[in-house]
This record gives sequence, C-alpha cells and structure tokens, in this order.
Amino acid sequence: MTAPLIIRAEAIPVSLPLARPVLMGGGQRFTHSESLVVRLETDSGLVGWGEASAAPTMTGETLPGMKLVVDRVLLPMLDHAPVLERATMERRLQRAIPGNSAAKCAVNVALYDLLGRHYRVPVHALLGGLARTRLPVMHLLANATVEEDLDEAVRKQAEGIRLFKVKAGVKPVADEIAMLSALRERLGPEAMLCADANTGMGLDDACDYARAAAGAGLLFFEQPLPDHDLDGMIKVAQAGGAPTCADESAHDIDHIIAWHRAGAIAGVNLKTIKLGGIAGLMRAAIVSGQLGLKINLACKAGESSLGTAALVHLGYTVPNLDWGITPSSQYLAEDIVRAPIRPVDGTIPAPTGNGLGVEVDEGAVDRFRTAA
Ligand SMILES: [Mg+2]
Repeated sequence: MTAPLIIRAEAIPVSLPLARPVLMGGGQRFTHSESLVVRLETDSGLVGWGEASAAPTMTGETLPGMKLVVDRVLLPMLDHAPVLERATMERRLQRAIPGNSAAKCAVNVALYDLLGRHYRVPVHALLGGLARTRLPVMHLLANATVEEDLDEAVRKQAEGIRLFKVKAGVKPVADEIAMLSALRERLGPEAMLCADANTGMGLDDACDYARAAAGAGLLFFEQPLPDHDLDGMIKVAQAGGAPTCADESAHDIDHIIAWHRAGAIAGVNLKTIKLGGIAGLMRAAIVSGQLGLKINLACKAGESSLGTAALVHLGYTVPNLDWGITPSSQYLAEDIVRAPIRPVDGTIPAPTGNGLGVEVDEGAVDRFRTAA
C-alpha cells in the first residue's frame, strides 16, 4: 500500500447561528460564530476536516485574514504532501509564517483527522491513548439576567453538570459578586464555580471580585484584565482571593512560562486556536503540567462539533485536566456534522470513530458558507 498524498485542499469560511446570544465580559454580544473549515482529500479517497473559530480579540486574526493565510501560504505547501509525514509538514507550516495560530489550527486538525482515518484509529489513540474515563464538562452561563443564569444552572446541575462558568466584567462588580453568592446558595457546596471577565475589568474591581469570589469558593478567576497587563495580574493574584487563570494572555507556551514565573497565574485556559491546533495544545498542556499549573481546555464560544471533537480528543489525553473542559457545540442552533456532540450526564463519551470521529455534513457546510 502506498502512502496517501493530499491532492485537494479547500478552506471554507462559515457563519454558524448560536442557539441564544452570548454576552461576553467587556459588553460584547454574539449571535453567530465564525469559523474557517478546512477540507483535505487524498489520492486514496480519504477526506479529513479541521476547524478554527475566528477570535480576533484572542489571536488577532479575522476570518478573512485566516482564509487568506490558509489559501495563500499553508495549503499550497500541502500539495501532494504525504499524510503520514504529519510532523514534518507541521514543522514546515510553522516556519512558513509566524503567528497565525488559528489559521494553522484549522489545517493541523484536518491533518490529524486524515492520519486517524488512514490508520483507522481515533485521534486520541494517535495522542497516546486515554488518560481518563470521563470529562468534567463545564457549562457556560451567559444570559442577559441573573434569574436566567440561576434557573439555567439549576437545570444543568440536574442534568449532571458539576462545573459552571459565569461571565464577569459585564455588570457592576457588586452585582456580580451578589450573583456569585446567589449561585453558590442555589447550587450547594458541591458545584464548582469559576468566572471569566474576558479582559473587561479594571484592577480595583478585579481585586475586589477575586477576594469576594474566594468566599464563594470560586475554583478560578479568568482573565480579569487586558491581555498585556502582567503587573496588574500579579496584583490580582496577590489579592488573597480566588486562583487566577490566563486565557487571552496565554497566547503561546512562552507567555504561559513567563506569567507563571512572574507569579501571575495558578492555571491556564488552553485553546486549539491559540496554540496552532492539536499538536501545539498538547505541547502546552505538558509544559503547563510540568510547571504545576492547573488546566482548563476550552473551545471559543460557538465552535462546531468539528472543533469540539478536536478538544474532546485532547481532553481525554492531556496529562491533567483539573479545571475541566469547555466544549461549545451545544450552544449552536445548527451544526455542520451529522451527529452533533452534546454533553450527557456531565461528560462527553470518548469518540470511537476513526480520526476525529465526526461525520461532516457537506450540505450544511455549504448552507453556512459565508463571504470572507
Ligand atoms: Mg476565557
């Protein structure tokens, strides 16, 4: 059997409708999620798919920019590339252009899907096999009102969810502290709560919130301040409150190491779009674990079941997952795979199919295709 070669490659920008608008810290409101989907086809008839969400405030890349980089720089390098030499290709793609982690992610995920399909194993087997038997799935609360958040949390707890994330930096800080206490009261001591301000807080509010949050038993407090504000984050970490977590600041492994050394963080939020895909996230998870950092794996809000599948394979294989996993396909009104990934009883079962283990619905990809 000859090794398959990639003979066709396409990058397709899509806009996927969210089931409900999501409010982020800093006042942003999203109704759709934009992603770049990559389709690779081999001369042996295999098709591999990858996805990366556009998150300009996270990686600095817009959807049109991602498409341009993938079309002009990355995909031409894969023309007649051997699928089995994924790591060699990866090194070339990394050297071809600095940064552009989300554009690289879409391609990297598709390469893993192809490799798994060629060897007829799930991606988690390519990554070394299962490290746990269930995933602690985190549920995101981002409604317009506190009452809606509280009702939804109680409903999700009854469905088996134990980990909840609230958005902070949206309302006055006193209201958000009160909301946290109300949530703790409604859910009881077993629920694990965390908060994410998506860079939307000032230093004084962040320190107040961190201290009050410790009283509510907050597991961690994510990204209160702008991504570059290392001095501020050190002060929040020293405020004597909840453990701090970097997301927007954790651009790459070098940033994670620097912020750890500075004493700014107790843990990190790792996303495939920030780290260039599956291989980069695994490297970051191993380094973070060595540094003693806690880890949360997360999709950007609104990635489809394709991007979520990549995260689930990583969730089953990274060395530690103390702060759980935050999938996103359940927040979409419509998906681009035939059997969308949904949490059941607070977990997502380990995928059993080849590659990513999801079957992309090409009709749906066409339907949600958008200009970029
Ligand atoms: Mg975050």
